[in-house]
Amino acid sequence: MSPNTPETHYDVLIIGGGILGLASAYYATARGLKTLVVDQYGIGNDTNSSKGLERMFRLMQDNESEARLAEASLAIWTELQRASGKTLLASDDLIFFGHRDAPMTTEGNVQHIKHTMDSMGMPYEYLDSPAAIHKRFPMFNLAAMPDDYVGLVQAASASINVQEAARTFLFAARQTDLLHVLDKHAVIQVAPLKDQAGYTLLTEADGRSVTVHGKHLITCPGVWADSVLKGFGLKQAPGWKIWKMSYAYWPLKENPPKIPIWFEFGNIDASDQGTFYGFPPLDFSPDRHNMVKMSADYTYDTYDAPSAIQPGVNPRLMEELVAHLDQLIAPNAVDATQYQHAGTCLYSMSPDGKLVIGRIPTAPGQQSFHAGASMCVMESGRAFKYAPLFGRILVELAVDGHTRYQHDLDIFSSTRDGLFEPST
Ligand SMILES: Cc1cc2nc3c(=O)[nH]c(=O)nc-3n(C[C@H](O)[C@H](O)[C@H](O)COP(=O)(O)OP(=O)(O)OC[C@H]3O[C@@H](n4cnc5c(N)ncnc54)[C@H](O)[C@@H]3O)c2cc1C
Repeated sequence: MSPNTPETHYDVLIIGGGILGLASAYYATARGLKTLVVDQYGIGNDTNSSKGLERMFRLMQDNESEARLAEASLAIWTELQRASGKTLLASDDLIFFGHRDAPMTTEGNVQHIKHTMDSMGMPYEYLDSPAAIHKRFPMFNLAAMPDDYVGLVQAASASINVQEAARTFLFAARQTDLLHVLDKHAVIQVAPLKDQAGYTLLTEADGRSVTVHGKHLITCPGVWADSVLKGFGLKQAPGWKIWKMSYAYWPLKENPPKIPIWFEFGNIDASDQGTFYGFPPLDFSPDRHNMVKMSADYTYDTYDAPSAIQPGVNPRLMEELVAHLDQLIAPNAVDATQYQHAGTCLYSMSPDGKLVIGRIPTAPGQQSFHAGASMCVMESGRAFKYAPLFGRILVELAVDGHTRYQHDLDIFSSTRDGLFEPST
Protein backbone atom coordinates (compact mmCIF):
# COMPACT_ATOMS: atom_id res chain seq x y z
CA MET A 1 0.00 0.00 0.00
CA SER A 2 1.33 3.43 -0.82
CA PRO A 3 2.32 5.61 2.16
CA ASN A 4 -0.74 7.83 1.88
CA THR A 5 -3.17 4.92 2.27
CA PRO A 6 -2.47 3.41 5.67
CA GLU A 7 -6.10 2.42 6.27
CA THR A 8 -8.16 -0.46 5.04
CA HIS A 9 -11.74 0.62 5.90
CA TYR A 10 -13.58 3.24 3.88
CA ASP A 11 -17.05 4.63 3.42
CA VAL A 12 -16.74 4.53 -0.36
CA LEU A 13 -14.51 2.45 -2.61
CA ILE A 14 -14.15 3.61 -6.22
CA ILE A 15 -12.72 1.32 -8.89
CA GLY A 16 -11.29 3.43 -11.72
CA GLY A 17 -9.41 6.72 -11.64
CA GLY A 18 -10.64 8.00 -15.02
CA ILE A 19 -12.80 11.12 -15.15
CA LEU A 20 -15.90 9.41 -13.75
CA GLY A 21 -14.00 7.86 -10.83
CA LEU A 22 -12.47 11.25 -10.02
CA ALA A 23 -15.81 13.06 -10.29
CA SER A 24 -17.32 10.44 -7.96
CA ALA A 25 -14.44 10.94 -5.51
CA TYR A 26 -15.13 14.68 -5.58
CA TYR A 27 -18.79 14.18 -4.60
CA ALA A 28 -18.12 11.41 -2.08
CA THR A 29 -15.54 13.47 -0.20
CA ALA A 30 -17.75 16.58 -0.43
CA ARG A 31 -20.35 14.55 1.46
CA GLY A 32 -17.78 13.86 4.21
CA LEU A 33 -17.22 10.24 3.20
CA LYS A 34 -13.83 8.60 3.57
CA THR A 35 -13.05 7.51 0.03
CA LEU A 36 -10.52 5.28 -1.73
CA VAL A 37 -9.85 5.39 -5.49
CA VAL A 38 -8.08 2.36 -6.96
CA ASP A 39 -6.64 2.41 -10.47
CA GLN A 40 -4.65 -0.37 -12.08
CA TYR A 41 -2.56 1.99 -14.25
CA GLY A 42 -2.63 5.00 -11.95
CA ILE A 43 -4.60 8.25 -12.02
CA GLY A 44 -3.88 10.24 -15.18
CA ASN A 45 -2.76 7.12 -17.06
CA ASP A 46 -2.38 7.16 -20.82
CA THR A 47 -4.33 3.97 -21.49
CA ASN A 48 -7.88 4.75 -20.45
CA SER A 49 -10.74 6.55 -22.24
CA SER A 50 -10.13 9.80 -20.35
CA LYS A 51 -6.70 10.43 -21.84
CA GLY A 52 -5.93 13.38 -24.08
CA LEU A 53 -6.61 17.11 -24.05
CA GLU A 54 -10.11 17.95 -25.21
CA ARG A 55 -13.70 16.68 -25.35
CA MET A 56 -16.88 18.22 -26.73
CA PHE A 57 -19.56 19.63 -24.47
CA ARG A 58 -22.91 19.95 -26.22
CA LEU A 59 -26.54 20.44 -25.36
CA MET A 60 -27.54 19.29 -28.84
CA GLN A 61 -28.69 15.70 -28.35
CA ASP A 62 -30.97 13.32 -30.22
CA ASN A 63 -33.29 12.84 -27.23
CA GLU A 64 -34.70 15.02 -24.46
CA SER A 65 -33.27 13.02 -21.57
CA GLU A 66 -29.70 13.49 -22.71
CA ALA A 67 -30.32 17.16 -23.44
CA ARG A 68 -31.70 17.69 -19.90
CA LEU A 69 -28.78 15.77 -18.39
CA ALA A 70 -26.39 17.91 -20.41
CA GLU A 71 -28.09 21.08 -19.14
CA ALA A 72 -27.74 19.85 -15.54
CA SER A 73 -24.12 18.96 -16.17
CA LEU A 74 -23.39 22.37 -17.71
CA ALA A 75 -24.63 24.07 -14.55
CA ILE A 76 -22.15 22.05 -12.47
CA TRP A 77 -19.26 22.55 -14.91
CA THR A 78 -19.92 26.30 -14.74
CA GLU A 79 -19.96 26.30 -10.94
CA LEU A 80 -16.78 24.19 -10.76
CA GLN A 81 -15.08 26.53 -13.17
CA ARG A 82 -16.02 29.58 -11.13
CA ALA A 83 -15.09 28.00 -7.79
CA SER A 84 -11.74 26.61 -8.97
CA GLY A 85 -10.73 29.63 -11.04
CA LYS A 86 -9.58 27.19 -13.74
CA THR A 87 -10.61 27.14 -17.39
CA LEU A 88 -12.51 23.89 -17.66
CA LEU A 89 -14.71 24.84 -20.61
CA ALA A 90 -13.63 26.88 -23.64
CA SER A 91 -16.98 28.08 -24.97
CA ASP A 92 -17.49 28.19 -28.71
CA ASP A 93 -20.04 27.71 -31.47
CA LEU A 94 -20.69 24.06 -32.31
CA ILE A 95 -21.98 23.19 -35.76
CA PHE A 96 -23.62 19.85 -36.52
CA PHE A 97 -24.01 19.49 -40.28
CA GLY A 98 -24.67 16.80 -42.83
CA HIS A 99 -27.36 15.17 -44.94
CA ARG A 100 -30.84 16.49 -44.10
CA ASP A 101 -32.07 12.89 -43.74
CA ALA A 102 -28.83 11.17 -42.68
CA PRO A 103 -29.40 7.79 -41.05
CA MET A 104 -28.88 7.45 -37.30
CA THR A 105 -25.34 7.15 -35.96
CA THR A 106 -24.09 6.60 -32.43
CA GLU A 107 -24.11 10.43 -32.14
CA GLY A 108 -27.64 10.76 -33.56
CA ASN A 109 -28.39 12.60 -36.82
CA VAL A 110 -29.27 16.15 -37.82
CA GLN A 111 -33.07 15.63 -37.98
CA HIS A 112 -33.37 13.91 -34.60
CA ILE A 113 -31.24 16.56 -32.94
CA LYS A 114 -33.26 19.37 -34.56
CA HIS A 115 -36.45 17.69 -33.41
CA THR A 116 -35.18 17.48 -29.80
CA MET A 117 -34.12 21.12 -29.82
CA ASP A 118 -37.51 22.17 -31.22
CA SER A 119 -39.54 20.14 -28.75
CA MET A 120 -37.50 21.50 -25.82
CA GLY A 121 -37.65 25.07 -27.07
CA MET A 122 -33.86 25.27 -27.08
CA PRO A 123 -32.38 28.05 -29.17
CA TYR A 124 -30.19 27.24 -32.16
CA GLU A 125 -29.41 28.58 -35.60
CA TYR A 126 -30.53 26.59 -38.65
CA LEU A 127 -28.44 26.67 -41.83
CA ASP A 128 -30.65 25.37 -44.61
CA SER A 129 -28.14 24.72 -47.40
CA PRO A 130 -24.46 24.10 -48.13
CA ALA A 131 -24.22 27.76 -49.18
CA ALA A 132 -25.53 28.89 -45.78
CA ILE A 133 -23.04 26.59 -43.99
CA HIS A 134 -20.17 27.89 -46.11
CA LYS A 135 -21.22 31.51 -45.60
CA ARG A 136 -21.35 31.08 -41.81
CA PHE A 137 -18.13 29.02 -41.65
CA PRO A 138 -15.99 29.51 -44.79
CA MET A 139 -13.58 26.85 -43.47
CA PHE A 140 -15.95 24.25 -45.01
CA ASN A 141 -15.50 24.11 -48.78
CA LEU A 142 -18.78 24.63 -50.62
CA ALA A 143 -17.82 22.17 -53.37
CA ALA A 144 -17.25 19.38 -50.80
CA MET A 145 -20.79 19.51 -49.41
CA PRO A 146 -23.63 17.55 -51.08
CA ASP A 147 -26.74 19.56 -52.04
CA ASP A 148 -28.85 18.17 -49.19
CA TYR A 149 -26.45 19.35 -46.45
CA VAL A 150 -27.99 21.41 -43.62
CA GLY A 151 -26.55 22.63 -40.33
CA LEU A 152 -27.44 23.39 -36.70
CA VAL A 153 -25.33 25.86 -34.74
CA GLN A 154 -25.46 26.32 -30.98
CA ALA A 155 -23.45 28.73 -28.91
CA ALA A 156 -23.92 26.98 -25.53
CA SER A 157 -21.22 24.49 -26.48
CA ALA A 158 -17.61 24.09 -25.41
CA SER A 159 -14.35 22.22 -25.61
CA ILE A 160 -13.71 20.62 -22.21
CA ASN A 161 -10.14 20.88 -20.86
CA VAL A 162 -9.65 17.20 -20.00
CA GLN A 163 -6.52 17.40 -17.86
CA GLU A 164 -7.65 20.51 -15.98
CA ALA A 165 -10.98 18.85 -15.22
CA ALA A 166 -9.27 15.76 -13.79
CA ARG A 167 -6.90 17.91 -11.71
CA THR A 168 -9.81 20.01 -10.41
CA PHE A 169 -11.81 17.00 -9.14
CA LEU A 170 -8.69 15.47 -7.60
CA PHE A 171 -7.50 18.69 -5.95
CA ALA A 172 -10.91 19.43 -4.42
CA ALA A 173 -11.24 15.85 -3.12
CA ARG A 174 -7.71 15.96 -1.65
CA GLN A 175 -8.46 19.27 0.10
CA THR A 176 -10.95 17.42 2.32
CA ASP A 177 -8.28 15.03 3.67
CA LEU A 178 -10.82 12.27 3.05
CA LEU A 179 -9.35 10.96 -0.21
CA HIS A 180 -6.91 8.08 -0.43
CA VAL A 181 -5.52 6.68 -3.63
CA LEU A 182 -4.22 3.21 -4.43
CA ASP A 183 -2.32 3.90 -7.63
CA LYS A 184 -1.21 1.14 -9.97
CA HIS A 185 -3.16 -1.50 -8.08
CA ALA A 186 -5.46 -3.78 -10.05
CA VAL A 187 -8.66 -4.93 -8.39
CA ILE A 188 -8.60 -8.66 -8.97
CA GLN A 189 -11.55 -9.61 -6.79
CA VAL A 190 -14.73 -7.88 -5.67
CA ALA A 191 -16.61 -9.63 -2.87
CA PRO A 192 -19.81 -8.46 -1.19
CA LEU A 193 -19.66 -8.67 2.62
CA LYS A 194 -22.18 -10.75 4.53
CA ASP A 195 -25.56 -9.13 5.31
CA GLN A 196 -25.01 -6.59 2.51
CA ALA A 197 -22.77 -4.62 4.85
CA GLY A 198 -20.37 -3.51 2.13
CA TYR A 199 -17.62 -4.79 -0.15
CA THR A 200 -14.11 -6.17 0.04
CA LEU A 201 -11.64 -5.57 -2.76
CA LEU A 202 -8.54 -7.63 -3.28
CA THR A 203 -5.95 -5.61 -5.17
CA GLU A 204 -2.57 -6.51 -6.56
CA ALA A 205 0.52 -4.55 -7.59
CA ASP A 206 3.86 -6.13 -8.49
CA GLY A 207 2.93 -9.36 -6.78
CA ARG A 208 1.86 -7.60 -3.55
CA SER A 209 -1.77 -7.90 -2.43
CA VAL A 210 -3.79 -5.39 -0.48
CA THR A 211 -7.30 -5.95 0.85
CA VAL A 212 -9.61 -3.01 1.52
CA HIS A 213 -13.18 -2.78 2.79
CA GLY A 214 -15.89 -0.24 2.10
CA LYS A 215 -19.55 0.33 2.92
CA HIS A 216 -20.28 1.46 -0.62
CA LEU A 217 -18.76 0.69 -4.02
CA ILE A 218 -18.70 2.75 -7.21
CA THR A 219 -17.31 1.14 -10.33
CA CYS A 220 -16.13 3.15 -13.35
CA PRO A 221 -13.78 0.66 -15.01
CA GLY A 222 -14.11 1.74 -18.66
CA VAL A 223 -13.22 -0.96 -21.18
CA TRP A 224 -12.06 -3.25 -18.35
CA ALA A 225 -15.61 -3.62 -17.00
CA ASP A 226 -15.58 -7.44 -17.04
CA SER A 227 -12.71 -7.48 -14.54
CA VAL A 228 -15.08 -5.89 -12.02
CA LEU A 229 -18.48 -7.23 -13.10
CA LYS A 230 -17.45 -10.84 -12.54
CA GLY A 231 -17.51 -10.11 -8.78
CA PHE A 232 -21.24 -9.47 -9.24
CA GLY A 233 -21.84 -12.64 -11.30
CA LEU A 234 -22.11 -10.64 -14.55
CA LYS A 235 -20.18 -10.25 -17.77
CA GLN A 236 -20.70 -8.09 -20.81
CA ALA A 237 -22.79 -9.61 -23.62
CA PRO A 238 -21.04 -10.39 -26.95
CA GLY A 239 -22.60 -7.29 -28.62
CA TRP A 240 -20.40 -5.08 -26.46
CA LYS A 241 -17.23 -3.92 -28.26
CA ILE A 242 -14.14 -1.83 -27.64
CA TRP A 243 -13.60 0.72 -30.42
CA LYS A 244 -10.07 1.99 -30.92
CA MET A 245 -10.37 5.53 -32.32
CA SER A 246 -7.57 7.25 -34.27
CA TYR A 247 -7.02 11.04 -34.34
CA ALA A 248 -4.34 13.65 -35.08
CA TYR A 249 -3.54 17.38 -34.91
CA TRP A 250 -3.02 19.78 -37.82
CA PRO A 251 -0.96 23.02 -37.60
CA LEU A 252 -3.03 26.04 -38.61
CA LYS A 253 -1.91 28.27 -41.44
CA GLU A 254 -1.44 31.99 -40.91
CA ASN A 255 -4.72 33.97 -40.64
CA PRO A 256 -7.01 30.95 -40.95
CA PRO A 257 -10.81 31.36 -41.15
CA LYS A 258 -12.76 30.98 -37.87
CA ILE A 259 -12.83 27.35 -36.77
CA PRO A 260 -15.77 26.24 -34.61
CA ILE A 261 -16.29 22.94 -32.84
CA TRP A 262 -17.79 20.78 -35.60
CA PHE A 263 -19.35 17.41 -36.27
CA GLU A 264 -20.27 16.16 -39.74
CA PHE A 265 -23.00 13.59 -40.31
CA GLY A 266 -21.83 12.56 -43.78
CA ASN A 267 -22.95 8.95 -43.50
CA ILE A 268 -25.25 7.68 -46.22
CA ASP A 269 -25.76 4.12 -45.07
CA ALA A 270 -26.71 2.95 -41.59
CA SER A 271 -23.08 2.83 -40.41
CA ASP A 272 -21.04 5.54 -38.72
CA GLN A 273 -18.74 5.87 -41.73
CA GLY A 274 -18.76 9.44 -42.97
CA THR A 275 -18.92 10.93 -39.49
CA PHE A 276 -16.05 13.32 -38.78
CA TYR A 277 -15.37 16.00 -36.16
CA GLY A 278 -12.90 18.66 -35.14
CA PHE A 279 -12.03 21.27 -32.54
CA PRO A 280 -10.94 24.91 -32.76
CA PRO A 281 -7.39 25.81 -31.72
CA LEU A 282 -7.17 25.47 -27.92
CA ASP A 283 -4.62 26.54 -25.36
CA PHE A 284 -4.84 23.33 -23.34
CA SER A 285 -1.20 22.28 -23.93
CA PRO A 286 1.86 24.28 -25.06
CA ASP A 287 2.88 21.60 -27.59
CA ARG A 288 -0.48 21.86 -29.43
CA HIS A 289 -0.39 25.63 -29.71
CA ASN A 290 -2.11 26.81 -32.92
CA MET A 291 -3.08 23.28 -33.93
CA VAL A 292 -6.51 21.72 -34.40
CA LYS A 293 -7.54 18.17 -33.54
CA MET A 294 -9.64 16.37 -36.13
CA SER A 295 -10.84 12.79 -36.32
CA ALA A 296 -13.25 10.28 -37.79
CA ASP A 297 -16.03 9.04 -35.51
CA TYR A 298 -15.85 5.52 -36.92
CA THR A 299 -13.26 2.80 -36.69
CA TYR A 300 -11.93 -0.35 -38.32
CA ASP A 301 -10.48 -1.55 -35.00
CA THR A 302 -13.01 -3.23 -32.77
CA TYR A 303 -12.12 -5.74 -30.05
CA ASP A 304 -13.98 -8.07 -27.72
CA ALA A 305 -11.55 -7.73 -24.82
CA PRO A 306 -8.79 -5.34 -23.65
CA SER A 307 -6.21 -8.14 -24.02
CA ALA A 308 -6.86 -8.20 -27.80
CA ILE A 309 -6.18 -4.48 -28.41
CA GLN A 310 -3.38 -3.80 -30.91
CA PRO A 311 -1.45 -0.54 -30.45
CA GLY A 312 -1.04 2.18 -33.08
CA VAL A 313 -3.19 4.37 -35.30
CA ASN A 314 -5.00 2.68 -38.18
CA PRO A 315 -3.31 3.59 -41.51
CA ARG A 316 -6.48 3.01 -43.57
CA LEU A 317 -8.51 5.25 -41.31
CA MET A 318 -5.85 7.97 -41.36
CA GLU A 319 -5.75 7.82 -45.17
CA GLU A 320 -9.52 8.20 -45.35
CA LEU A 321 -9.46 11.03 -42.80
CA VAL A 322 -6.77 12.95 -44.70
CA ALA A 323 -8.54 12.44 -48.04
CA HIS A 324 -11.81 13.69 -46.56
CA LEU A 325 -10.30 16.71 -44.82
CA ASP A 326 -8.43 17.59 -48.00
CA GLN A 327 -11.82 18.04 -49.68
CA LEU A 328 -13.78 19.50 -46.80
CA ILE A 329 -11.44 21.97 -45.10
CA ALA A 330 -10.42 25.20 -46.84
CA PRO A 331 -6.75 25.20 -47.93
CA ASN A 332 -6.12 28.49 -46.07
CA ALA A 333 -6.92 26.67 -42.78
CA VAL A 334 -4.70 23.57 -42.83
CA ASP A 335 -2.74 21.35 -45.17
CA ALA A 336 -4.66 18.11 -44.66
CA THR A 337 -1.67 15.92 -45.53
CA GLN A 338 0.50 17.45 -42.77
CA TYR A 339 -0.62 16.08 -39.44
CA GLN A 340 1.21 15.54 -36.15
CA HIS A 341 0.67 13.89 -32.75
CA ALA A 342 -1.46 11.06 -34.19
CA GLY A 343 -2.84 8.86 -31.42
CA THR A 344 -5.59 6.50 -30.33
CA CYS A 345 -8.14 6.31 -27.54
CA LEU A 346 -10.73 3.69 -26.59
CA TYR A 347 -14.54 3.78 -26.65
CA SER A 348 -16.41 1.21 -24.59
CA MET A 349 -19.33 0.69 -26.98
CA SER A 350 -22.56 -0.93 -25.77
CA PRO A 351 -24.67 -3.14 -28.05
CA ASP A 352 -27.22 -0.33 -28.58
CA GLY A 353 -24.66 2.52 -28.55
CA LYS A 354 -26.12 4.03 -25.36
CA LEU A 355 -24.43 4.58 -22.04
CA VAL A 356 -24.99 2.35 -19.06
CA ILE A 357 -25.25 4.03 -15.66
CA GLY A 358 -27.17 2.76 -12.68
CA ARG A 359 -27.21 0.28 -9.83
CA ILE A 360 -25.75 -3.15 -10.44
CA PRO A 361 -28.42 -5.81 -11.12
CA THR A 362 -28.26 -9.13 -9.25
CA ALA A 363 -28.76 -10.92 -12.60
CA PRO A 364 -29.00 -9.75 -16.24
CA GLY A 365 -32.22 -7.80 -16.78
CA GLN A 366 -33.32 -8.13 -13.13
CA GLN A 367 -34.87 -5.19 -11.31
CA SER A 368 -33.21 -6.24 -8.04
CA PHE A 369 -29.83 -4.71 -7.25
CA HIS A 370 -26.70 -5.23 -5.22
CA ALA A 371 -26.97 -3.00 -2.16
CA GLY A 372 -24.68 -0.01 -1.80
CA ALA A 373 -23.13 -0.21 -5.27
CA SER A 374 -23.36 1.70 -8.54
CA MET A 375 -21.62 1.63 -11.89
CA CYS A 376 -20.99 3.46 -15.10
CA VAL A 377 -19.72 1.15 -17.79
CA MET A 378 -20.01 1.20 -21.58
CA GLU A 379 -19.66 4.94 -21.74
CA SER A 380 -19.99 4.68 -25.52
CA GLY A 381 -17.66 7.55 -26.30
CA ARG A 382 -19.82 10.30 -24.79
CA ALA A 383 -19.64 10.43 -21.00
CA PHE A 384 -17.06 13.16 -20.44
CA LYS A 385 -19.57 15.98 -20.79
CA TYR A 386 -21.66 14.39 -18.05
CA ALA A 387 -18.74 13.75 -15.66
CA PRO A 388 -19.67 16.18 -12.85
CA LEU A 389 -23.31 15.13 -12.94
CA PHE A 390 -22.53 11.42 -13.22
CA GLY A 391 -20.10 11.65 -10.30
CA ARG A 392 -22.95 13.00 -8.21
CA ILE A 393 -25.39 10.38 -9.52
CA LEU A 394 -23.01 7.48 -8.88
CA VAL A 395 -22.52 8.61 -5.28
CA GLU A 396 -26.29 9.03 -4.78
CA LEU A 397 -27.01 5.58 -6.20
CA ALA A 398 -24.31 3.84 -4.16
CA VAL A 399 -24.90 5.70 -0.89
CA ASP A 400 -28.61 6.58 -0.94
CA GLY A 401 -29.85 3.84 -3.28
CA HIS A 402 -31.63 6.36 -5.51
CA THR A 403 -30.98 9.55 -7.46
CA ARG A 404 -33.07 12.60 -8.20
CA TYR A 405 -32.13 12.23 -11.90
CA GLN A 406 -33.62 8.74 -12.29
CA HIS A 407 -36.32 9.74 -14.78
CA ASP A 408 -33.78 10.88 -17.36
CA LEU A 409 -31.50 7.93 -16.67
CA ASP A 410 -34.03 5.30 -17.74
CA ILE A 411 -32.61 5.29 -21.30
CA PHE A 412 -29.25 4.31 -19.80
CA SER A 413 -30.70 1.59 -17.55
CA SER A 414 -28.37 -1.17 -16.40
CA THR A 415 -31.27 -3.64 -16.67
CA ARG A 416 -32.12 -3.15 -20.34
CA ASP A 417 -31.99 -6.15 -22.68
CA GLY A 418 -28.80 -7.42 -24.23
CA LEU A 419 -26.26 -5.79 -21.90
CA PHE A 420 -25.09 -8.58 -19.63
CA GLU A 421 -24.86 -12.33 -19.30
CA PRO A 422 -24.26 -14.39 -16.18
CA SER A 423 -20.53 -14.94 -15.65
CA THR A 424 -19.57 -18.53 -15.09
C1 LIG B 1 -11.50 9.49 -28.96
C2 LIG B 1 -12.55 9.80 -27.93
C3 LIG B 1 -13.31 10.95 -28.07
C4 LIG B 1 -14.30 11.25 -27.13
N1 LIG B 1 -15.00 12.39 -27.28
C5 LIG B 1 -15.90 12.74 -26.35
C6 LIG B 1 -16.56 13.99 -26.43
O1 LIG B 1 -16.30 14.78 -27.34
N2 LIG B 1 -17.46 14.31 -25.46
C7 LIG B 1 -17.74 13.46 -24.43
O2 LIG B 1 -18.57 13.81 -23.58
N3 LIG B 1 -17.12 12.27 -24.31
C8 LIG B 1 -16.21 11.89 -25.23
N4 LIG B 1 -15.55 10.71 -25.12
C9 LIG B 1 -15.91 9.79 -24.04
C10 LIG B 1 -15.23 10.09 -22.71
O3 LIG B 1 -13.88 10.43 -22.89
C11 LIG B 1 -15.38 8.85 -21.84
O4 LIG B 1 -16.77 8.56 -21.74
C12 LIG B 1 -14.82 9.03 -20.43
O5 LIG B 1 -13.50 9.53 -20.49
C13 LIG B 1 -14.86 7.68 -19.71
O6 LIG B 1 -14.31 7.85 -18.44
P1 LIG B 1 -14.33 6.66 -17.39
O7 LIG B 1 -13.81 7.22 -16.13
O8 LIG B 1 -15.64 5.97 -17.41
O9 LIG B 1 -13.33 5.53 -18.01
P2 LIG B 1 -11.76 5.51 -18.16
O10 LIG B 1 -11.20 6.85 -18.41
O11 LIG B 1 -11.44 4.46 -19.16
O12 LIG B 1 -11.23 5.06 -16.73
C14 LIG B 1 -11.40 3.75 -16.27
C15 LIG B 1 -10.27 3.47 -15.29
O13 LIG B 1 -10.57 2.27 -14.57
C16 LIG B 1 -9.36 1.61 -14.29
N5 LIG B 1 -9.69 0.19 -14.04
C17 LIG B 1 -10.45 -0.62 -14.80
N6 LIG B 1 -10.54 -1.85 -14.28
C18 LIG B 1 -9.81 -1.81 -13.14
C19 LIG B 1 -9.49 -2.78 -12.14
N7 LIG B 1 -9.95 -4.05 -12.20
N8 LIG B 1 -8.69 -2.41 -11.10
C20 LIG B 1 -8.22 -1.13 -11.02
N9 LIG B 1 -8.48 -0.17 -11.94
C21 LIG B 1 -9.26 -0.51 -12.98
C22 LIG B 1 -8.55 1.82 -15.57
O14 LIG B 1 -7.16 1.68 -15.35
C23 LIG B 1 -8.95 3.23 -16.00
O15 LIG B 1 -8.00 4.20 -15.61
C24 LIG B 1 -14.55 10.37 -26.04
C25 LIG B 1 -13.79 9.21 -25.90
C26 LIG B 1 -12.79 8.92 -26.83
C27 LIG B 1 -11.99 7.66 -26.65
